[in-house]
Amino acid sequence: MTDNGHVLAFMAHPDDIEILCAGTLIHLRRKGYTIHLATMTAGDGGSAELSGPDIARVRLQEARASAALLDASYHCAGEKDFLICHQPAVIQRVVEIVRICQPFLVFTHSPSDYMLDHEVTSQLVRNACFCAGAPNMLTDALPAAAPLAGIPYLYYAAPVENKDIWGHAVPCDIAIDTSDVMALKETMLKCHASQREWLLKHHGIDEFVESTRRWSAEIGNPRGVAYAEGFRQHLGHAYPQDDKLSEILSGKGLRDAQER
Ligand SMILES: [Zn+2]
Repeated sequence: MTDNGHVLAFMAHPDDIEILCAGTLIHLRRKGYTIHLATMTAGDGGSAELSGPDIARVRLQEARASAALLDASYHCAGEKDFLICHQPAVIQRVVEIVRICQPFLVFTHSPSDYMLDHEVTSQLVRNACFCAGAPNMLTDALPAAAPLAGIPYLYYAAPVENKDIWGHAVPCDIAIDTSDVMALKETMLKCHASQREWLLKHHGIDEFVESTRRWSAEIGNPRGVAYAEGFRQHLGHAYPQDDKLSEILSGKGLRDAQER
């Protein structure tokens, strides 16, 4: 699909995007791209004290505040934490959001991650990228957004903690140096105050920010920089085959240490 200036990050919960790919989105924003953020849920499971609807209201505000820092639109698919699943209505909702955003480049979760909400979201977004251009894929939305002009570039972020459920490190083919945008990435993260406070209380340290730094350093340090975000590109049949992300962010792309 040709570069139309629109980029979408579509993940499961509010704060996933900030943790896994906000640095790269900041670079793209500074290059002039329009950024769209979408989450499957409003994060209704993310509190030990507030009810689902109450914490969801708080977290939607947090997600919107974070999106505003990128001048990004924010969309929520309205699903519930721990209940994201493959159902026709859910598939249609994800396709509709992708069509509303009209991205030529999409980020989502790793197909292999620590929890099923992330893995199912990865599959739903992958499916939407494939079929959002098909006019006969109807979503029942009124009015319905126009089909995409083609299949967008699809990039999977590194899984949380950069490992799969067996504890094995998941290698990334593409790494983007985020060292010089960590301050804004962390400001976006801190918009998710309800989650940060929960971890602060539980761990006694600012684990929300610290863990994100640690995981970014794990990708960046072997490549000679302080922090980086890792990705793998979907290169299956019919998807765009060139690495547009690295081309756009030339100078920020990093090779593996052993390749240098
Ligand atoms: Zn999540």
